[in-house]
Amino acid sequence: MRIAILSRNAKLYSTRRLVEAAINRGHEVRVLDHLRCYMNISSSKPTLHYRGEDLPHYDAVIPRIGSSVTFYGTAVLRQLEMMGVYPVNESVAVTRSRDKLRSLQLLSRKGIGMPITGFANSPDDIQDLIKMVGGAPLVIKLLEGTQGIGVVLAETKKAAESVIEAFLGLNANIMVQEFIKEAGGADIRCFVVGGKVVAAMKRQGAEGEFRSNLHRGGSATLVKLTPDERKTAVKAAQIMGLNVAGVDILRSNRGPVVMEVNSSPGLEGIEKATGKDVASMIIQFIEKSAKPHKTRTRGKG
Ligand code: ADP
Ligand code: MG
Repeated sequence: MRIAILSRNAKLYSTRRLVEAAINRGHEVRVLDHLRCYMNISSSKPTLHYRGEDLPHYDAVIPRIGSSVTFYGTAVLRQLEMMGVYPVNESVAVTRSRDKLRSLQLLSRKGIGMPITGFANSPDDIQDLIKMVGGAPLVIKLLEGTQGIGVVLAETKKAAESVIEAFLGLNANIMVQEFIKEAGGADIRCFVVGGKVVAAMKRQGAEGEFRSNLHRGGSATLVKLTPDERKTAVKAAQIMGLNVAGVDILRSNRGPVVMEVNSSPGLEGIEKATGKDVASMIIQFIEKSAKPHKTRTRGKG
């Protein structure tokens, strides 16, 4: 098969591993920087151009679109879908997953467990917002944050008020969330491919740190999931309409709660922690699923 990978950087671990796995399994593969793609959407025959070249037909595309370029990246992906290329994750699902508010609303609608979460733009009553999620201690998150930056634990009601005021004063979009203390500074990353959890790791925050992000000094180890955790991860990916997803779960007293669902989950941490060849599993999924014009919007919203 001919496989395209939408990625800004061919040197990234995840991109390199996908290229390697595709070649090992006998496919032709090419990395396309989606920001360098341009397209013709006015004709009845949609095309995609890349650095002066009219791109040939691809059987499948693996989107690895960074969150800062979602808008243009998903437009390129949509164009490929119109050309009949099979997307591992569809543009609609990628867009959906990038909106945290929309994602959590979709998951809650289908009964997925999650931390009690409040969203606010400019509440007149911060006290009421705090009360709504069960009071302090609580976690305040910037919607645009990644890698743990912009996630704050407010231990007291006073601290929570000041932080919320400060963020809103900067016109930031925030989320206020119940603090799952019993998670003990750890979370579980479930890597879902084609409706199955193919690998899972536990990320434990550094001593005294409630955030488990590897970028914040956390460490990753292999973990065995409970059947309930497995089911929750698979269902969350399915609701989002993602064939490949990284579902992040906290172990709470009332069972697994989903924090977020990532549509371009990194391969480095999970492959190193579990010793599994996740890249090849993604390629095998494509071999099984790719058919021309098979784009179909799954999930809702
Ligand atoms: P980011 O997108 O920046 O990674 P997350 O929402 O994943 O932000 O939060 C970063 C880390 O903080 C999580 O991996 C988890 O360890 C911890 N954390 C986030 N929310 C909660 C919560 N409600 N209760 C307990 N720990 C949390
Ligand atoms: Mg995270």
